[in-house]
Amino acid sequence: MNINHLIPSGIRKVIESYTTEIKKLKERPIIIAIDGHSSCGKSTLSKDLAQIIGYRHIDTGAMYRAVTLYLLRQEIPLSDPTQVAGALNDIRIDFQRINGANHTFLNDEDVEKHIRGLEVSSHVSEVAAISAVRRFLVEQQRVIGQQKSIVMDGRDIGSVVFPEAELKIFMTADVDVRTQRRYEEMIAKGSKESYDTIKANLLHRDHIDSTRSDSPLLQADDAIVIDSSTLSRQDQLNKAIELAVKAVG
Ligand code: C5P
Repeated sequence: MNINHLIPSGIRKVIESYTTEIKKLKERPIIIAIDGHSSCGKSTLSKDLAQIIGYRHIDTGAMYRAVTLYLLRQEIPLSDPTQVAGALNDIRIDFQRINGANHTFLNDEDVEKHIRGLEVSSHVSEVAAISAVRRFLVEQQRVIGQQKSIVMDGRDIGSVVFPEAELKIFMTADVDVRTQRRYEEMIAKGSKESYDTIKANLLHRDHIDSTRSDSPLLQADDAIVIDSSTLSRQDQLNKAIELAVKAVG
């Protein structure tokens, strides 16, 4: 399917100006790991970058969210790791491109909309701190990454899933900038959550993600930091393309 008409014209210009470099990234495929705090633009940057260089984008946060949705729907107590571990055998997660956008499928159901709400957001970090859940998803992420040509975003991609990734980016941004962006995103989707509720959720997730004992969110030693507080979407993309080009030499 030709999705050219779906590519914003700004991005199309970037593709045209990096033709040689993009060719190199296709000939010598690499793994690009993008980690960082909640709502600092990881998924948007990963999606933009993958689109430009013709790589596959995997949003690992969506995988943790899909597991959380399943557990909530089945009313499995999240505080009981044994019951949670037992339920994992019944969970199958896939991604499909629909009109140029990634959709997350849970046992063949498109759950993209359901996994983004505050209900899942409020419980996902608790679920992601359970070692059995991490083992289950990290194994799948490593299988996906075997083919390289991948931009994977999350919290532990550069530190645990692919410590050998050719390029590791660690993203962060001021918490009020992150809250404002997430707030606008949620309002656009029809949510009525307040700014303060969203800010509290971001801080709560950052805290659990950074302090859990299994694979906490941390900046890998060889990761390059992008602070997106004052960078436009296009600036972030340009920076990431330059880093990707450097990574292939
Ligand atoms: O990226 P996103 O904000 O959608 O991720 C939702 C949650 O999933 C995070 O707050 C974190 O608890 C968990 N997560 C994780 N490891 C990853 C990706 C996400 O623990 N690689």
